[in-house]
Amino acid sequence: MKIEALPRRRYTPHPTPIQKLERLSKHLGGVEIWIKRDDLTGLAGGGNKTRKLEFLVAEALAQGADTLITVGAVQSNHCRLTLAAAAHEGLKCRLVLEQRVKGSYRKEASGNNFLFDLLGVEAITVVDGGSDLNAAMQAEAEKLKALRRKGYIIPGGGSNALGAMGYVVCAREILQQSLEQGLAFDQFVVASGSAGTHAGLLVGFTAANAGVPLTGINVRRPRAEQEGNVHKLAVEAAAFAGLPAPSRESVVALDEWVGPGYSLPTDEMVEAVRMFAALEGVLLDPVYTGKAAAGLIGLARRKHFKQSSKILFVHTGGAPSLFAYQPVLQGT
Ligand SMILES: *Cc1c(COP(=O)(O)O)cnc(C)c1O
Repeated sequence: MKIEALPRRRYTPHPTPIQKLERLSKHLGGVEIWIKRDDLTGLAGGGNKTRKLEFLVAEALAQGADTLITVGAVQSNHCRLTLAAAAHEGLKCRLVLEQRVKGSYRKEASGNNFLFDLLGVEAITVVDGGSDLNAAMQAEAEKLKALRRKGYIIPGGGSNALGAMGYVVCAREILQQSLEQGLAFDQFVVASGSAGTHAGLLVGFTAANAGVPLTGINVRRPRAEQEGNVHKLAVEAAAFAGLPAPSRESVVALDEWVGPGYSLPTDEMVEAVRMFAALEGVLLDPVYTGKAAAGLIGLARRKHFKQSSKILFVHTGGAPSLFAYQPVLQGT
């Protein structure tokens, strides 16, 4: 179905800005770094999940759901934003939290975990890493059914074909802004996690024949596995929207900046978070954009990009989780 014809809620009343990172570019030397401020989307604290939720929550409402059910890691930005959308729409929200790192859930933890409570979460079910997350969410839906209520299940990260439409739209927005501002980018860079953002952008750029490579920086999985996941979702999303499917070769998801694993700090992440903050006044996050920016910085330093390239880094948000990582990020 045409994206324009899909039910959609609006959570960001404006295009997010594209800005030049003058001081960071000078610091790195040889490339121009620009940033797409998708950390400034609507809903509590902003971030990329807001764009996916515009479509997902619209479908939930169209189906007459009274409760959103979703899943994420213990510091999930996606769970925070799903709760915020629920509050805004007058819906309830239940979370399944996966301990991707053993024993990582702490009821009293700060960051997004604190915001789950503040945003009025109805129930939290904590499960071990590797659990059947769909079954856990289905169990929540069954509980609601027994109460004559109706749940709507949103997959992890909002990453299905419908959610990915949020980033097909974002790709169009980026190309429109590039045209208006006379910005001919040579390269796009984005964090690649549950894949909806990466896949959606790729579908949008491919459909528009943008001719600009998109490099994903992984935060969790080995390269081949992640590229397979992104490609599969991109093909589904393209079919869903009646757009051409991106080729397998156009999917690039580098895994050199994952470090020891999902959400586990690396020196490069700490450097990137501190560098963006001190040089540009831009807050990244420790789990996604910190590692993606570490990849961007690493690629620039090893002269991966040709001289004077214009690079657009898509900032996908996440700053609220900084507060759960203070001991790792604080300077001496
Ligand atoms: C979820 C998330 C990502 C990754 O996006 P996916 O669509 O899951 O690949 C990147 N950055 C932040 C801050 C996120 O919360």
